[in-house]
Amino acid sequence: MRLPTHKTKIVCTIGPASRSEAILERLMLQGMNVARLNFAHGTLQGHKEDIGCIRAVAERLQCHCMIMADLPGPKIRIGKLMDEPLLLEKGSEVVLTVKDVVGTFNQIPVEYKRLPESVSPGSLIFLNDGFIQLQVEKVSEEEVFCRTVIGGPLLSHKGLNLPGVKIFADAVSETDLEFVAFALQEGVHAFGVSFAETADDIRKVKGFAQGRGESAYVVAKIERAEAIDNFDAILSATDAIMIARGDLGVQIPLQEVPAVQKKLIHKANLWGRPVITATQMLVSMTENIRPTRAEVSDVANAILDGTDAVMLSEETAIGRYPVEAVEMTSKIATSAERERKAVGALADLPAYFRTGAGSVNPSVEDIVSVNAVESANALNVRYIVTNMQSKGVPCLISRFKPDCWILSCGVDEKRTNIPVLSYGVHPVCLDVETNGLADMATRFLGKEGMVEKGERVILVEDESVNDMQKASLIKIIGA
Ligand code: PGA
Ligand code: MN
Repeated sequence: MRLPTHKTKIVCTIGPASRSEAILERLMLQGMNVARLNFAHGTLQGHKEDIGCIRAVAERLQCHCMIMADLPGPKIRIGKLMDEPLLLEKGSEVVLTVKDVVGTFNQIPVEYKRLPESVSPGSLIFLNDGFIQLQVEKVSEEEVFCRTVIGGPLLSHKGLNLPGVKIFADAVSETDLEFVAFALQEGVHAFGVSFAETADDIRKVKGFAQGRGESAYVVAKIERAEAIDNFDAILSATDAIMIARGDLGVQIPLQEVPAVQKKLIHKANLWGRPVITATQMLVSMTENIRPTRAEVSDVANAILDGTDAVMLSEETAIGRYPVEAVEMTSKIATSAERERKAVGALADLPAYFRTGAGSVNPSVEDIVSVNAVESANALNVRYIVTNMQSKGVPCLISRFKPDCWILSCGVDEKRTNIPVLSYGVHPVCLDVETNGLADMATRFLGKEGMVEKGERVILVEDESVNDMQKASLIKIIGA
């Protein structure tokens, strides 16, 4: 087994620039951990082919690649444009229509029937994450007449935001649930829930999967103000979160995004929920082979603040340098991770559970995770071995971002597609269940040549004492 150079998970959006087996192979070799399929684009047949391809490459390379189906949710988009890009010039007149037409200046189709009643003269409409801004001048039954405030090139199917306007649509629609059903059938169990507003949106997807005898691993995408207000409830219901800075940066004032990002990362760390920081991480690499200094700092800072994963969007979906973008991310991660202790942003986290607010009514798992990490640090071990079935324990250990790897061992038929987003957690699939974790782990590490003779390894396991009792154990073994 080959461990990556970086412990931060790298999420890559798959698109025309990356869906071939040849590119997927290079992305995985450079360190892609998660392939994100954006269900806002493409066809089911296309997604099916992508899933097959990702699986085949992961199996051939014997590496883990989690597949995440990102559900579109109620994102409003424009329709197809006749000529692309459509260049909107500052001051020019543009008409948005809810009619199903092919777009030109005089009629850009919008897939949201309630657009005209949602805006009034003076309202701002943001296109393409706010890169283009329109101001409404006049509204008719089916059309919205606008003046271009900030111009630029517009492509088909780009998003449209109405900041501060209530959208009359569920975060998880019937179409989204059809996508969930499809993905589950294809063996994909991880879902991005776009524009999540409340914990119920998360439960809806989990409940739907459960109704089909399956389980769903949900990533709540935080991209609207309501989700920030309901963040605690969302954290309690979800498996992971994504700070979706693209839409978030138009739904709340853009200048507030950096502090919100830091606060969300911190809180997700406290709760032991993995967090993905997403959007424009290395966006200039969509066109250029080198990123900007600001982008490199942005990725490194998110990692130093405690993000578990970083996501590439157009960089890998439609960019000219998808492989280089992953290689760069991996280099930044490796470098930032090395400096984690010196920077010390998470240094107070163990104390939070020992003597701080987290010491009031901690769970057994909280205490086990602090002790495992402190033992690992004190003894300078390379691995903490846990059981995949130990619900959440790997994530709880991971939140402290220790220097060692957290090997999450189990017998799992999903093999190359296990939902793992937590920093430094690496799944280890074993063929057969042997006599407990200690035995399984030492044999495996020995066989793979990953430990020196007698090297210490920390085991964290749940053991059934009898039918009624369970024991949580931390064992320090010499391999
Ligand atoms: P999207 O989500 O790319 O699906 O819109 C990410 C974001 O909004 O940042
Ligand atoms: Mn979004």
